[in-house]
Amino acid sequence: YDITLVKTGCIGFCKEEPIVSVTIPGKSQVLLHKVRPDDAERIIALALKGEIPEDLALCRIPDWDHITGNLVYGDGFESVPDYGEIRFFSHQKKVILRDSGLINPEDIDEYIGIGGYSAAFKALNSMDPDTIIEEVKKSGLRGRGGAGFPAGLKWEITKKAPGTEKFIVCNADEGDPGAYMNRNEMESDPHMLLEGMLIGAYGMDVHEGLIYIRAEYPLAIERLTLALDQARAYGLLGKNILNSGFDFDIQIATGAGAFVCGESTALAASIEGKTGRPRLRPPRLTEKGVFGRPTDLNNVETWCNVPVIITKGATWYSDIGAKGNTGTKVFSLVGKVENIGMVEVPLGTSLRTIIYDIGSGGAGGKEVKAVQTGGPSGGCIPVRLFDTPVDFENLNMVGTMMGSGGLVVMDEDTNMVDIARYFINFASSESCGKCVPCREGLKHLLLILNRIVSGKGTRDDIEILKELSDTVQKTSLCGLGQTAPNPVLTTLQYFGEEYEKLIAPEG
Ligand code: SF4
Repeated sequence: YDITLVKTGCIGFCKEEPIVSVTIPGKSQVLLHKVRPDDAERIIALALKGEIPEDLALCRIPDWDHITGNLVYGDGFESVPDYGEIRFFSHQKKVILRDSGLINPEDIDEYIGIGGYSAAFKALNSMDPDTIIEEVKKSGLRGRGGAGFPAGLKWEITKKAPGTEKFIVCNADEGDPGAYMNRNEMESDPHMLLEGMLIGAYGMDVHEGLIYIRAEYPLAIERLTLALDQARAYGLLGKNILNSGFDFDIQIATGAGAFVCGESTALAASIEGKTGRPRLRPPRLTEKGVFGRPTDLNNVETWCNVPVIITKGATWYSDIGAKGNTGTKVFSLVGKVENIGMVEVPLGTSLRTIIYDIGSGGAGGKEVKAVQTGGPSGGCIPVRLFDTPVDFENLNMVGTMMGSGGLVVMDEDTNMVDIARYFINFASSESCGKCVPCREGLKHLLLILNRIVSGKGTRDDIEILKELSDTVQKTSLCGLGQTAPNPVLTTLQYFGEEYEKLIAPEG
């Protein structure tokens, strides 16, 4: 057949998978959804005639114009809805995910063909390194791993730290239950991450990069390894990159998947081959990081934002989102929601828009009750607070946090005490055990929650839950312990009646 079959990453609409994208020269690209193996012959036969099976067509896909940012549709298949008419896509703004599912992540030429590495070319050939840092600072980009620290400022601190041997590190140790944004970004567009790191390294004058990734992400590791080989072969990593005189390379370090290794100091220890346990800060990683060298640590999505900031400029970027919370954020929308999938929206978009407009509300028509944001460190937000803008500060104000981007939806059938128990069980089993409040406190919280869920709890248990949560938050050494009680505290605050119902009358 005169037909090319290529792998792509994920376009993010999990509910409609398996999805196949059909491209016929000169015509619009069309997504086919819920495709089965026995549809393959029909799809190919029609494609060879310049047609598509319209019964499987989901929507036409536009090109993302890399200069204007506009969406441009091709010709043909006008009876198929446009991408912008599909509710799941129409409220999204895809910047990081713009090419996910549409290019072959195993082919560097496809990335270059849609403008990839042009930002690196611009940075290394026409920008002063300090100007790059200034541009990232002006863009307002904040770390997407959860803390929201200004990325450009961290770069500047690393650059100014004493010493000539430094590291930049990509934190790809995504471990929140229900969160798979970084995995998708690496599997679907690995060169975007490498390009972001290359630009950052040049800006900071760092020559060694590491990607710390959990071994549970074998496809991401495979595609990153291939992407690194391709980038080296194209002179985009290694010596004298793009004839700029700048040397830089990236190695992959795999972790065994301990949740705590997402914490910066534990991550550094793990890279050094030690047990992944947090240590007291300061010194921060920017002063004393991997192997004692100043280290800039940013997560996958933070690095992925860098090429577009350099290509389109800080002003273009900072016009997206809200004041102090610029750009977009990728979320994995999961749980009891109709449209599960990978969602990218401007920061400041409300939970309501994400869950009802993009997610189409509760799965199977059930009433949504709450959403859990921020993974085990976050909290559960009731529907009455769904107008809360999703950004670093507003989520904190309602008792949760953005975290790295997991959004787990709960419906009318969800037992919120059980949810709190699930997350405490997770945090307790992932605790590294170094400090007593976290190691012992979480176990006791779990014991009490088990007691309440089994109908043997007492009213005193509620007070103990609150006091113990407060102690664990205030006295734990690292973020895992300091934030682990959040699911308990928010479910007590917003769904206290569900605890009350489980307490025996005589309790
Ligand atoms: Fe380890 Fe928990 Fe203490 Fe962090 S808070 S150092 S995970 S025991």
